[in-house]
Amino acid sequence: MLFPLHQTTPRCAVFEFLNSELLYFLRASITSENFSETLFRAHAGAPSVCWSNRPTREWFHQLWKSLPKVSQDRQNLFDTINNTQDIQVFFDDTKTALPILESDIVFEAMKSLTTHLFTRTKDLADTKLQANSSIESHYQQFKCANSNSELCPLCGTALLSQNRVHLSDEEQWRADYDHVLCKDKYPIYSVHPGNFVPTCHICNSKAKGAKDLLRDKDGNRRRAFYPLPPAQECCYRYAEVFVTPKKKAELITGYWAEPLAEAYVSFQSAPPDVKPKIDVWEEVYKVPSRVEQHITTHFCEHIAADLRPTNFNDFHGQLIRFANAMPLDYRSMEWRFWWQRVYEHLSKQDQDFLRDLWSLIDWKIREKSDEDMDLVFS
Ligand SMILES: [Zn+2]
Repeated sequence: MLFPLHQTTPRCAVFEFLNSELLYFLRASITSENFSETLFRAHAGAPSVCWSNRPTREWFHQLWKSLPKVSQDRQNLFDTINNTQDIQVFFDDTKTALPILESDIVFEAMKSLTTHLFTRTKDLADTKLQANSSIESHYQQFKCANSNSELCPLCGTALLSQNRVHLSDEEQWRADYDHVLCKDKYPIYSVHPGNFVPTCHICNSKAKGAKDLLRDKDGNRRRAFYPLPPAQECCYRYAEVFVTPKKKAELITGYWAEPLAEAYVSFQSAPPDVKPKIDVWEEVYKVPSRVEQHITTHFCEHIAADLRPTNFNDFHGQLIRFANAMPLDYRSMEWRFWWQRVYEHLSKQDQDFLRDLWSLIDWKIREKSDEDMDLVFS
């Protein structure tokens, strides 16, 4: 996490509902002899949507058929899942054993069922009725609890989604919901309410995919940020951005539009117990790599547009002014936080460094103004 979520951020009621239906089914299965409606809860006199919706019922039936025959083994399976509902502990303590479904048949049946619950059942009208909520409604509550920010809390570089005027919560678009523990490897948590965080599309689909936060590529356990309250784990306080301009000779023969040799994101001041979690966040979501590319590509143009300097003294003064106060919208506007870190770094540089930089920015401003003149007068 770049930014922590507010303590009042709610968990999604639809997933609370579906997860409790799954646990109820597994508990009721311990002593049942037949697959029947008694394995499901009634809601206000109506059968559970997990029973009344035929495709969902069929996936529960497949899981039923895969369950061990001996009652004690079913009890053990239920205990394995029911006793590991607090998933936050896995993110801090690598000694805490992760739940293992010993039977491959149960694992596959569980994966098929919970994938269906996540992709289909969650959106049924009866599910929304019985859960008394919806994912769309949860997304709006999530935003509201976080100062109406639509910024992705994982990266600070992209929006989650955008609301449109004059529409109800149900009609608004919503963000992707990332499975914190991916559904392929942790199917028992595919509808666990503590396993979801709204993220931008790049964090969820492009960067993370099915990567495992709790294990490295060799299968070794590791610690990682847990995104939901009460945890407040994040790394923005330790983030620094350093830039190295190209040498003058490189610029004369090179490409002026990209005057930086390097932009570099560092977390060198992070405490030793937080650093390993930052390393996992970097590896999984690739945020520093995205930030470094963005800053390198847009360096002069962004500073010229953001500070609108008129000469070197103005540039220097604006830099100090911007660096000394975190902008109000650093947790709601894309990239704002990262550019603030750039200004902080620049404001500490000596006059020679800044004068060289100014000549590049000034060139960018003039080039842009020449382009505008051509457009107007040619
Ligand atoms: Zn993101």
